[in-house]
This record gives sequence, C-alpha cells and structure tokens, in this order.
Amino acid sequence: MAAAESIPHPTCDVEAIPGRVAQLRATFDSGRTRSLDWRRSQLEAIQRMSSEHAEDFARALHADFKKPPLEAHTADVGQGKSEAALALKNLKKWTSPEKLRGMGPMPGAGKARVLREPLGVVLIIAPWNYPVGLLLSPAVGAIAAGNAVVLKPSEVTPHTSALLAELVPRYLDPEAITLVEGGVEETTALLDERFDHIFYTGNGHVGRIVMEAAARNLTPVTLELGGKSPCIVDADADIDVAARRIAWGKFINAGQTCIAPDYVLVERSKESELVDALRRTVEEFYGKDPKATPDYARVVNSRHHARLAALLKDGTPAFGGESDPEDCYIAPTVLRDVSPDSDLMKDEIFGPILPVLPVDGVEEAIEFVNQREKPLALYLFTGNEEAEQEVLERTSSGGVCVNGTILHIGDPRMPFGGVGPSGMGAYHGKHTFEAFSHRKSVLTRGVRFDPKLMYPPYSERMLGLLRRFL
Ligand code: NAD
Repeated sequence: MAAAESIPHPTCDVEAIPGRVAQLRATFDSGRTRSLDWRRSQLEAIQRMSSEHAEDFARALHADFKKPPLEAHTADVGQGKSEAALALKNLKKWTSPEKLRGMGPMPGAGKARVLREPLGVVLIIAPWNYPVGLLLSPAVGAIAAGNAVVLKPSEVTPHTSALLAELVPRYLDPEAITLVEGGVEETTALLDERFDHIFYTGNGHVGRIVMEAAARNLTPVTLELGGKSPCIVDADADIDVAARRIAWGKFINAGQTCIAPDYVLVERSKESELVDALRRTVEEFYGKDPKATPDYARVVNSRHHARLAALLKDGTPAFGGESDPEDCYIAPTVLRDVSPDSDLMKDEIFGPILPVLPVDGVEEAIEFVNQREKPLALYLFTGNEEAEQEVLERTSSGGVCVNGTILHIGDPRMPFGGVGPSGMGAYHGKHTFEAFSHRKSVLTRGVRFDPKLMYPPYSERMLGLLRRFL
C-alpha cells in the first residue's frame, strides 16, 4: 500500500463552500485585489512560502509517492516560485495599458488602448503529479491579474494537500485566496458555484465534467489535459543523446508527467540500437536495481499501479517489467513487439512503461500520429532539417521539442497548452496573466471635431466619400 493511502482522505465542510466563495466575491467587489501592492504582497508570500517550506513540501511529496527530492525542488515546488519571481519582475509592464500607436482605420476617431482587467473570482483545480507547481503556477497568474482565487489541490496526494491547506491561509490573504481540500464531492460542490474563470489541469474525462459545469454560467475555461505524446526517432538521429533525453523525460516522476514521451516510433533499422542505448542509460541513471535508488518515484496509488501492471502484458520487455504492488513500484520498462491496437496504445500510459514501435521512415510516423488524437507534446529526434520541417508542418500538437523532451515547458516565453483533446488555452509567464485577464478595448474620443456629415440624414456626398475609402 502506498504511503498516500495511509492518511485520511482530504475533505472539507461542503456546506461552507457557498459562503467561502461569497466571501471571495465580496473581497473582489471591494477592489482590494486590484491594487498592485496587494498583488505584489501575495506573490511575495508565494515565494516565501515556497522557500521557507521547501523541505516540508519535499517531505510531503516523498510521503505521497517517493518523489525524489531533486525533482520535488526543481520541477514541482520551484515552478510556482520561479513564476512568482517572473510576475513580480514584470507586474508593472504586464498591467500597464497597451497604447495602440499610429492611426487605425478611422482617422480622428480617438485614442485606442487595451486595458487588462481581472476577471473576478476564479477556480484552479490541480492534479496530483506535480501537486504544488500545478496549483501555484496558475495561481501566480491569477493573482498577478488581480483576481480572488479558490485553490483546489488533488486529493490523490493527501500529504501535500494537507500541507498546502495548512500553509496557504498562513501566507496568503484568506479573504481573497482560499484553499478547498477534497475530491469528487467537494469539487462537484465547487463547480455548482459561479466563477469567472475555471482553470483545470487533469484528465480529459473530468475536463468534460468541468466544461459542462462551466457552460451553465458561460464561464470560460482553461483545460490543461493530457494524451499520448509521441516520440519519433529518425534514421539519422544521435541515438545516444536520444536515449538519454527520452529516458529522462519518460522516467522522471516515474512516467507520471503530462508531457512524458508516451511511446517511441523509431526507424526500423535503428530499433535495436535505440533499445540497447535506453537499457544502458536506465542502468546509468538508476543502477541495476531501480527500486533501491532514491532518484526514482513510485506510482501514486494502488489503483494506478494495478492499471499499469495490467498493461505490461501488451509487449515483450526489452528490460524492466518488474512490479511490486506493496510498494506501488513498477521498474523503468521498455516494451517491444507492441501492437498498435493493444490497450497500451489506446490511452495515455502515465507511468514508467515505454513502448518502442518500429516504423519505415518519418512518413509512416507522421501517418501514425495523425491517425490519433492531437497530443499535448510531440518529440522528434533527427539530424535532418527537412524531416523536422515535414513533421512540424504536417502534425498538430500542443508543443514540440526537437532533439529533446520536456524542456520546452521550461521557457515561460512560450505558451504551454494543448490542442483539441489535449486541452484548450495556454499558460506560463505572461500567458498565465493573460489567461486570467480580460482585455478591455477602450477608445477615448475628442469632442472638438464632430462633423455632422456622418450622422443622419445621410447625404449623397457622404456616401460618395465613404465609398472611396471603404
Ligand atoms: P487527479 O485525479 O488529481 O484529478 C485532477 C483534479 O480533478 C483533482 O483536483 C480532482 O479532485 C478533480 N476531480 C477528479 N474527479 C472529478 C470529478 N468527477 N469531478 C470534478 N473534479 C474531479 O489527476 P488526474 O486527472 O489523474 O491527472 C492526470 C492527468 O492530467 C493526465 O491525463 C495528465 O496528462 C494530465 N495533466 C495535464 C497537465 C497539463 O499541464 N496539461 C499537467 C499534469 C497532468
């Protein structure tokens, strides 16, 4: 049994939810969250909370699923902290009115500008795989944009949820930012409330539930979902580098990363070389017994362990394949001889099992990808620019990393999000601020010049004039 299953299921007083949301709305309506000083103070508080309790977060994440400390600090707790630093640095710039210089199509119409205004009270629902970062990173943008925020961490990682529930009210303004613990019942109660934006990260099944609930109030949503992210390895790829980068991207967090390479499509002539290189790499990373290293996480709970263990039968292990339900352990595994019609190739794997399927060239790989739903990420290893261009032009995915995995998520200049079934909307850096802002267009007209010509009764002269311009 996983450690996460040994503490009580996170919950809250469901009856109190409407009152808590009403309190946030009252605070928002008071105008408090609009002030830049308030936004700054809350962003600084997120930085302080993340720094002062970094070790506590790492311990909670370890208790939940043995997340390695380095992965806890960098990929999880570090996310919210670095997003807060970026938002603080740019707050003035992001929130300043965008003046549109030059002349628009209506000369003399007035001064045009676009203001960013907060949406109101927003709901952020986070998953369990990076339970701190995926809750706090969107929160940073929501706060920077001046909103009141409900935070709903995942119940699947209860130690982390409990720590967040203890710290958030201590660090953040409790009348404007509140954390609601719980699972389906509590989230369902939250979704009965009216929000001005819902930001959901998790699987597509729940994504549909969230979007249906949001539709009742015409509430806009950002859906950060998942899917099967393919990894194409071309004939002239550097196989050693590819193996290291694929193994890192796949086995970090024990494969429980939304943009982990889900499966590999490798040029047939390179299949054995790649599998051998993956085997060597995994041994270099985790030793002969990955169960013994502190650098390898566990599957989050028994339910996910049973799901993953059942998928192991869908191929021949090139290495790995060991599984221990008591410890929620599944070894880093590469499977060969996998049928494209198997269960393994139907849904997102979300665990440390990597199917390697041979293809006859990039063309076949493109067809394979395009026969399936649009993925969150696509990876291509190649030394051939034409192949790169071909894949970029003829496939659609949330994002792409060429000759690498995962790292495209780390540059906040680039919007991160899915397309089609892998999600809608995007965030990171300024894009998060934009996701939680309304862009209000404002035209300010002068009053001195107001020719009667444009008002009824319309004249032939005006019609002639206008037809010359339009
Ligand atoms: P999860 O089980 O923690 O669920 C996510 C959230 O939805 C939780 O807060 C949970 O309480 C809530 N929830 C669950 N069932 C619900 C219901 N019936 N009604 C309302 N709310 C409900 O996490 P998960 O869905 O297992 O997360 C894994 C998935 O998330 C994968 O598909 C992964 O690819 C995706 N993901 C996407 C991103 C991204 O940024 N695009 C990041 C991480 C994970």
